[in-house]
Amino acid sequence: MSKIIKSACALDCFDACAMLVTVEEGKVTKVTGDPDHPITKGYICNKGRAHVDRMYSVDRLLYPLKKNNGRFNEISWEEAIDLITQKLQLTLNQKGPQSISTYLIMDTVVFQNL
Ligand code: SF4
Repeated sequence: MSKIIKSACALDCFDACAMLVTVEEGKVTKVTGDPDHPITKGYICNKGRAHVDRMYSVDRLLYPLKKNNGRFNEISWEEAIDLITQKLQLTLNQKGPQSISTYLIMDTVVFQNL
């Protein structure tokens, strides 16, 4: 059985392109632009179209990793969230809100100044 779900690109561009996601038997098979969106009007770029490939890539990270002595080690989601919270709070306390910016890079959030 196939269905089409309305969604939006997760890559954090300012226009946040609207998407139509085709799901067949529980698996995403296609992503296209949503022509009903008043700004993007059905447009998505190749990075947006590649969501399907990234989602099912064997190289996709599925768990948080923490770098220690040059090596990445898997940690729990709870540990990752606690660590990010602590470092964000420390940065806010020491340097103020202007010291933090976020980038969404291929489903990875990077916090500056941590
Ligand atoms: S589809 Fe492309 S242009 Fe649109 S939000 Fe995603 S990455 Fe940005």
